[in-house]
Amino acid sequence: MTVFHIGECIRKTKSGIPLSEDEIRALVRGITAEGEEKIPDYQLSAWLMAVCFRGLSDPETAALTLAMRDSGQVLRWDLPGAVADKHSTGGVGDKTTLIVAPIVAACGVFMPKMSGRGLGHTGGTIDKLESIPGFRTALSREAFLAQVRQIGCAVAMQTADLAPADKKLYALRDVTETVDSIPLICASIMSKKLATGADHILLDVKIGSGAFMKNDRDGAELSRLMLAAAKTDGRDAAAILTDMDQPLGTCIGNALEVREALEVLRGEGEADLTELCLTIAAEILCMAGKGTAETCRALAEKAVADGSAMERFEQMVAAQGGSLRGDHPEVLPVSRCKRILHAAQDGWIEAMHSETIGRASVLLGAGRQRKEDPIDPGAGIRLSARRGAFVHAGDPLLTMYAASEAQLDEAEAMLHGAIRFSGTKPVPQPLIHALYTNRE
Ligand code: URA
Repeated sequence: MTVFHIGECIRKTKSGIPLSEDEIRALVRGITAEGEEKIPDYQLSAWLMAVCFRGLSDPETAALTLAMRDSGQVLRWDLPGAVADKHSTGGVGDKTTLIVAPIVAACGVFMPKMSGRGLGHTGGTIDKLESIPGFRTALSREAFLAQVRQIGCAVAMQTADLAPADKKLYALRDVTETVDSIPLICASIMSKKLATGADHILLDVKIGSGAFMKNDRDGAELSRLMLAAAKTDGRDAAAILTDMDQPLGTCIGNALEVREALEVLRGEGEADLTELCLTIAAEILCMAGKGTAETCRALAEKAVADGSAMERFEQMVAAQGGSLRGDHPEVLPVSRCKRILHAAQDGWIEAMHSETIGRASVLLGAGRQRKEDPIDPGAGIRLSARRGAFVHAGDPLLTMYAASEAQLDEAEAMLHGAIRFSGTKPVPQPLIHALYTNRE
């Protein structure tokens, strides 16, 4: 694409004039091109900012998503059964993939899952799994496919050849304050999901203080666009809007979250996390044609109760080189320094600000402050009380784990502002806000 054309695209988007599908395809080609064809970052940034202010029409959003999907390899699965995928828009304490993938696999649906690392205050599935000693997340395509065939699930790092236009665009959005545009978020997420090639896609859209989407209206709009993009590509998709106003479950931090996932797979997990995982797994089974909503819920519950989901998890860990045994979670690392934070007053816990708790876990070493920072797999936070609980002064609120006392000091200072008390019992907030599908 010449400079003249991208200038025209910027002018049109800035003026609210829709781009044609050909223009969008040419623009996306210019994102990953080399040499003269490459669109300079300053022009791409100007176009991204124009999108933030003027938005994109639904057909433009779908065209951008599909063009970004086609910027790299598009996978096709040759498996003897339904292939499903899930995606979370990102949250704090969200370890659902670790639980849902083995449940779904135990119920006969294939789940080849490509995941990412933590981003900002939100955790990433790959970092969590890498806290298991020996666990490999970089799998060759052959090894990935062979494992999915044999066990039904594999979780691997997303490869660089999948939607490379998104990688480039995301890095630019990150430094130009253009991340929070709903059409751009849709294209970013769905280009990768559609390139991964599953027939059925479950999108977990997080809503609240720890999420990209702060309210139901934006979550519903993002869901609508993502489902429409999936439909344009002939895929069956559903979006579930779920609470991220407090962390999901009680653990935030990589090895701590693996430990908590094992608790759920043993049938001993925290109620909200267990409920969300069973709901997501049942919806995926339903999409994959395993029966009615009730039958699929019963199948998911049975896979936990009879140990078959735990067995799949252990098989997956062993196949990917991990040395964890489900009944020996003590092989997981725990950071050396530990501190308990106590309630300074009596009262009801009215709010647990998940973004602040996520940021504190990054300070403890569970996430990265800079892209190149190493992760401390044993660092993080375990909550002893959740929103809606009554606590007395001196009761434990949470435990922090880190490599140094200085990190504990920094995180503690931040965490004091994360928990709000009330003299009256707060109104319970729903875990699941809405469910949308793109079926007729
Ligand atoms: N996750 C993504 O992959 N892309 C976005 O733009 C936002 C969240």
